[in-house]
Amino acid sequence: MFKCKNILIVIWYCFLATAVHAQVTKLNVLSYELTLEPDIQTQSVKGSLKVQFEVEGDTKKVTFDAGTLNIDKVSGANLLSFSKVGSELELALSTSNESPYEVTIEYSGNPKKGLLFNANLNQAHTVYFTDHWMVCNSNPSDRASFSLNLLLPKGMQSVASGKSLGIEERAEKTLHKWHQAYETPSYTYGFVIGSFKATAEQIGDVKLNYYSSELEPKALKKVFVETPNILKFFEEKSGIQYVQDSYSQVLIGDNYQEMSGLSVLSKAYPTFVFKDSSEIHLTSHELAHQWWGNMITCEDFGHFWLNEAFAVYMSSAFSEYKFGDKKYQSDISIYKSIYDDIVKRGKDRSLVFKTWMPSRLNRNVIYYKGAYVLHLLREKVGDELFWKGIQSYSIKYFGKSVKTDDFKVAMENATGLNLDTFFDRWVYNKL
Ligand SMILES: [Zn+2]
Repeated sequence: MFKCKNILIVIWYCFLATAVHAQVTKLNVLSYELTLEPDIQTQSVKGSLKVQFEVEGDTKKVTFDAGTLNIDKVSGANLLSFSKVGSELELALSTSNESPYEVTIEYSGNPKKGLLFNANLNQAHTVYFTDHWMVCNSNPSDRASFSLNLLLPKGMQSVASGKSLGIEERAEKTLHKWHQAYETPSYTYGFVIGSFKATAEQIGDVKLNYYSSELEPKALKKVFVETPNILKFFEEKSGIQYVQDSYSQVLIGDNYQEMSGLSVLSKAYPTFVFKDSSEIHLTSHELAHQWWGNMITCEDFGHFWLNEAFAVYMSSAFSEYKFGDKKYQSDISIYKSIYDDIVKRGKDRSLVFKTWMPSRLNRNVIYYKGAYVLHLLREKVGDELFWKGIQSYSIKYFGKSVKTDDFKVAMENATGLNLDTFFDRWVYNKL
């Protein structure tokens, strides 16, 4: 089954989550301003990061995630000392009556994940593990604005989270300036650099950009022909307009990864779509994350199904809208068969994890059992109340963190039904 269904084999890679991050004190980052110089040939980065943040609790040990990056220097008015301990940058701060704190972190490194380099094609793109190319707070409940200045060789293109503020010519390089005013979790930040063919279309206030290093614009438009319809469909189902000025999709590498305002899709993806024009789940899955995931974000990865099962289910809901009930039922039967296999192996479990550990089995639970459970919930409450509940939940928690009970209560309020038994049976596995 996995071999023949592209919707399954590839969705895996769109999010490679880590274990829940433990915080010594509560860190609330307000903004990141990063100047980054990636070098594709040496597969290295050099960064200068200004972070504004608030701290709740003890300021003696404030922890940022810094992967394998080398911390060269940290400066700031209230900084007492800094040290890199494992993958964490620990700062000791003096107590300040002035809020927020501000530090500047100079760092360098050779990321082995999070930023994937292709020296042959002279390309690079990010994929989820932001802390391997930028010091950050990886906690998904911490949202901040993001400014990115990419210092690149002349002639190179960039696509990044947020809005392009243009480019500035420097002596030997070009500075590409990006800014995202919307606050999103750090794992959603990202960029792509290289040389691409591109095409675009304007849908209302949103510019849709499509990039590939191989396909001509006409073929690119064909790959992403449904993107405008998918965007409108999710706006309608969520009750919330897409918030950014643009959404970019880039065919590059071997991964599928949503970021804020853009997604990367494997360069192999067009072959699936050209073979079967209804195989567009990955376009819709990644675009769904612009609502469910990026803007309505699991509070911690224990509630990760609220990101991923929603994206899987919404991609099937679009397929139902576009291609009809047969296509939708075919998707659901695949999700059900994965769930049946989990049960047969004796591995059925709650969709909510105390500590999220990524594994193939756990992802099958989160992505596909989760999507099947959303289908069952729709069957239980009926179409009208289900979509009323989804919309009410999406509007209430847009730009916020969510846990599973938030979704349950939103659905109960919208439907007028007590969903204790359903959630105990299907979500929490208590019955
Ligand atoms: Zn996903």
